[in-house]
Amino acid sequence: MNADLILHVARIENFDPAPGPATDTVVAVRDGRIVAVGGDEIPSRWSGAGTEVLDFPGATLTPGLTDAHAHPVWGAIETGTGLDLDGLTTADAVHAHIAARLADRHRTHGDHAGWVTGFNLDINVFDGEPTGHRLGQHFPGVPVSLMTRDAHSLVVSPAVIDLVGLTGAETFDDNSRVATGPDGRPTGFIVELQAMDLVFAHYPAVPLPVAAGHVAARLREFAATGLTGLHALDFTAPSEEVYRLIEADGDLPLRVRCSPLVPADSTRAVWEGVAAQQALAGRRWHVAGAKFMLDGTADNGSAWFEHPDLLGQNRRPLWTNVEGYREAVRFFTERDIPTATHAIGDQAVRTALDVIEETGHAPSAPHRIEHLESIPDDLLPRFAALGVVAGLQPAHATRMTSADQSDNWSRRIGPQRVAHGWRTRDLLDHGAVVALGSDWPIGVADPRAGLADAQLRRPVDEPDTAPVQPGQRITAREAYAGMTHAPAAAAGSAATLGRIAPGYLADLTVFARNPLDLTPEQQAANPVLATVVDGSVLHHATRPQRTSHPGHATSPRPGTPPQQTAQSQRTTQERTP
Ligand SMILES: [Zn+2]
Repeated sequence: MNADLILHVARIENFDPAPGPATDTVVAVRDGRIVAVGGDEIPSRWSGAGTEVLDFPGATLTPGLTDAHAHPVWGAIETGTGLDLDGLTTADAVHAHIAARLADRHRTHGDHAGWVTGFNLDINVFDGEPTGHRLGQHFPGVPVSLMTRDAHSLVVSPAVIDLVGLTGAETFDDNSRVATGPDGRPTGFIVELQAMDLVFAHYPAVPLPVAAGHVAARLREFAATGLTGLHALDFTAPSEEVYRLIEADGDLPLRVRCSPLVPADSTRAVWEGVAAQQALAGRRWHVAGAKFMLDGTADNGSAWFEHPDLLGQNRRPLWTNVEGYREAVRFFTERDIPTATHAIGDQAVRTALDVIEETGHAPSAPHRIEHLESIPDDLLPRFAALGVVAGLQPAHATRMTSADQSDNWSRRIGPQRVAHGWRTRDLLDHGAVVALGSDWPIGVADPRAGLADAQLRRPVDEPDTAPVQPGQRITAREAYAGMTHAPAAAAGSAATLGRIAPGYLADLTVFARNPLDLTPEQQAANPVLATVVDGSVLHHATRPQRTSHPGHATSPRPGTPPQQTAQSQRTTQERTP
């Protein structure tokens, strides 16, 4: 039997806790699976007519990286159509950005009409609770809606309040609120999902092909940074239509596992709907699992801590009926649907652990808890004891808080709980499976940067920034395991994904150098030469040498749409330095 693909590298690195022999340099792939791993004996055994042989001299082959927490569809649409406010630390800078967008629109379309939407707004630009008053002064009549960096609130101009018809008297059943001033009128600060949805309903519609274009472009970018998979912790419309449209025209550049949101305080009819969605799948995307949000965010005062924050907030769950959450977790567990619960505050994490302890796990995959931004010591051993996966995004710590605790998150929850922030080191030391993710578009998508941050506890590109909770540093080996072994375990796929071994799916990343030989700073710049998903190669940096069977090298494999080859080459051209 011939292999479809043989890869030659200098080193195969599995990120195992105890390093294995460094002698393996060749992998053979057939029908999307790894069939052999070894040395120079592999080609003579496995190559023949139809075998594509690729050499990456000096390179290191690793299991494909998987981002365990991202929001690719709404993230791509939001970032593709809105203004990126990342790095703007004053209100004046934000206003200047909006003014530039309006001036640009005036030049190209001759008018100022229409919405301005933005994302990545740093709420530290406001003194106290944000309002849209100054947006109204600077941009009278213009609907401006800016999403905060944590994606859990909006700051909107008075024109938006009028357009949507907000009065301040709205009530919600998920802790959402339309903030009001002393006069009882909305201030323009719109907190949490149900309230935000009222505004989103008025956003200009994005045509499906445009949305799909934004998503496809982002996924290609992600693949070029080494990702072969991601866990989408939502299945927001138009996710299904977008994935189907992209796959009608070729392959997704990476695998996507989608877990739809079960809204807070939702009814059994809604749960039935999410259960029915579990059957949905395309070639490289599928629905698996259910996402819960047990609380909001500490920055907004909507997280659920045991003790209130310094403003008397952060004390309530998003599920106002916690019994309903318990019933919902049981409902999904009984149907073999694993759950992922967003729980930022310590009381939310404790409650999620208690509920899982009571219900047990779905057979196909473990339950997981996401974010756990600050947890006390007594919760650390419970993750391993209960087999609950801890989903963390260390770049939230490194890029949204600062060591001097002058940021909003730190000021709100106070030094004692800040010291217990994003406890990657402690959770690993207590035997937990720690799956690392970006939470893109909230966090930085490039896994090389996120994994470097997790080792440094500061932004890898800011050498002069003091680390946050430096005791929570993890090693390069642990970090990369957090995006290979751990996401596979979290998805119940530890026997098929996350390792380079015979029988495993051929999802692989080809790095120019072994990340374990590099400093975090060097890792962040480590070229990704190629990614392999299901045995299909996407080239990202320099072209590999083809050493044999050139006649077959570029012909599409059986069952692979011809666009795959075109896409692969197009990516090569874009990414070749
Ligand atoms: Zn998220």
